[in-house]
Amino acid sequence: MKPEPMSKDDLVVVTGAGGFIGGHLVAQLRAQGYRKLRALDIKPFEDWYQLLPDIENARVDLTAPEACMSAARNARYVFNLAADMGGMGFIETHKAACMLSVLVSTHMLIAARDQGVERLFYSSSACVYAAEKQTDARVVALREPDAYPAMPEDGYGWEKLFSERMCRHFREDFGLQTRVARYHNVYGPHGTYDGGREKAPAAICRKVIQALLSGSNEIEIWGDGGQTRSFMYIDDCLAGTRRIMSSDVTEPLNLGSDELVSINQLVDIVEGIAGVRLERRYRLDAPKGVRGRNSDNTLIREKLGWAPSISLRDGMERTYRWIHGEMTRRHGQQRRAA
Ligand code: NAD
Repeated sequence: MKPEPMSKDDLVVVTGAGGFIGGHLVAQLRAQGYRKLRALDIKPFEDWYQLLPDIENARVDLTAPEACMSAARNARYVFNLAADMGGMGFIETHKAACMLSVLVSTHMLIAARDQGVERLFYSSSACVYAAEKQTDARVVALREPDAYPAMPEDGYGWEKLFSERMCRHFREDFGLQTRVARYHNVYGPHGTYDGGREKAPAAICRKVIQALLSGSNEIEIWGDGGQTRSFMYIDDCLAGTRRIMSSDVTEPLNLGSDELVSINQLVDIVEGIAGVRLERRYRLDAPKGVRGRNSDNTLIREKLGWAPSISLRDGMERTYRWIHGEMTRRHGQQRRAA
């Protein structure tokens, strides 16, 4: 079937809109002239990273079936990005909470089917891949079929893999068009950088800035810093998400960068941006996740012509500047209050 391009007259729903990727997606759609936007999140409005005017914003708990039914009413497209998640520090210690996101995935699929939604996008994760394929820092990049035989990240990864499959079965059995991306570490401004849910790029920016603000001259690194990952800048993530949503590719696709770095190299990059050199303290007992992970982008390049376009250095510079702005503003407020 030929995909219909999204029309600006159609109602588009974004769940998890108070979060990092959802906030950017709503901002992009709105900037492109979409006005029939329904932005939903469980968080109070003051905690949304981007809360935009002239669209429908609502605070709602999408684990409840009736909330999802209202969310999907009159909608043509749904981007389901809501999930209770965070970086390794969160998902290794909140496995039940991560798995409970299955309620959002399930009830949004049922609601989309019952409300006649045409197409639903689901944000899966590289955490669906088997840990045994990620034991070496010199990784072989992960291809989509590597998700099977299944042994995903405990908790979070199992929920993502299960929900991916549910998307497939809703498509096959009920005719709801579903599209799935497996995101690999997305980073950028307007995301979590403290509080326990932050991921490595934002956490490292925050730690470097803290060292600068406090004059401590040292940084704590989780693990030995030799673990490797790839990190995708938010603009590339949005471009890929939109392309997958309007494509006729029904199987899950990797959406990630293939620029592999170690955590130590990531720290080098941030130190370079900040113009400092810090003493590194390695916390070997901290959550570290798999030893190495990279995205094999062959399939998405072939099918959709998508490839990441923003280098890690450039993306980290923009991210660092935003976190620096936020932290110095907060630091100033605290000093004035003291
Ligand atoms: P995020 O935590 O910033 O945003 C997720 C949002 O979902 C949060 O604002 C949260 O309040 C909301 N939410 C959680 N439970 C909800 C509920 N019951 N009802 C309504 N809203 C609820 O995370 P993100 O980085 O923007 O991630 C978006 C999606 O992409 C998630 O599904 C995530 O699992 C997936 N993903 C992200 C990454 C990444 O690197 N950021 C990687 C892989 C997959």
